[in-house]
Amino acid sequence: MRSVIFLAPPLSGKGTFSDYLVENYGYKQISTGDILRKRMASDEKLASIMASGALVDDETIMDIVSDELKKISNEPFILDGIPRTLNQAEKLDEMLNKLNIKDILPIYIDVTKDNLIKRVTGRRVCPKCGKSYNIYSESFKPQEDSICDNCKVELTTRKDDNLESFLNRYEVFNSSTLKAIEYYKEKESLLVLDNNNEDQTEAIKVLEGAIHEH
Ligand code: AMP
Repeated sequence: MRSVIFLAPPLSGKGTFSDYLVENYGYKQISTGDILRKRMASDEKLASIMASGALVDDETIMDIVSDELKKISNEPFILDGIPRTLNQAEKLDEMLNKLNIKDILPIYIDVTKDNLIKRVTGRRVCPKCGKSYNIYSESFKPQEDSICDNCKVELTTRKDDNLESFLNRYEVFNSSTLKAIEYYKEKESLLVLDNNNEDQTEAIKVLEGAIHEH
């Protein structure tokens, strides 16, 4: 199974695809967003950067990634939300080369801005396991209103899931992350995954085909 890198605008569903790979194929998920959210409680500066939708500095991010990659043994992994800048993409390549980790599949999750905006106010997250739901979606709403299917605890809304923060994050995506996406495109190794449909069956099929390829 190939390890993957998800490069994606906010609300595009990278968390959902990650959950799918973890649950069905035993992938290890490395999500800088999740790790930073845990640190936010004791770091006011970090909390305000994240609430605004701006990026955290590259050095902090690469330290996190380096620590997490060291914990990987042989299982396939998902880089969820890294790299977000060209510098991170280049540093990541160096890191993976040093660790002799090859054959990673970068995936760009393609969703239109209009569709992303529709998802902003509906996302709910389990504070315990991190699973994401969308209360406006038949496929992604929890079985019981506002309760996590797995942990049975009350779901919460992320502080940065409001229109203002989303628009900032989307702007950051266009100005910074697209350059990282171009980097992989030039290396001719990028998979573009269309995730505009509410029904993700087709997208999952494409993803499954790609992780099995050699
Ligand atoms: P996410 O959960 O991936 O949407 O990330 C939430 C927030 O965490 C982002 O809006 C950034 O403030 C921060 N963040 C997560 N990953 C990165 C990264 N690779 N580089 C910079 N900031 C990041």
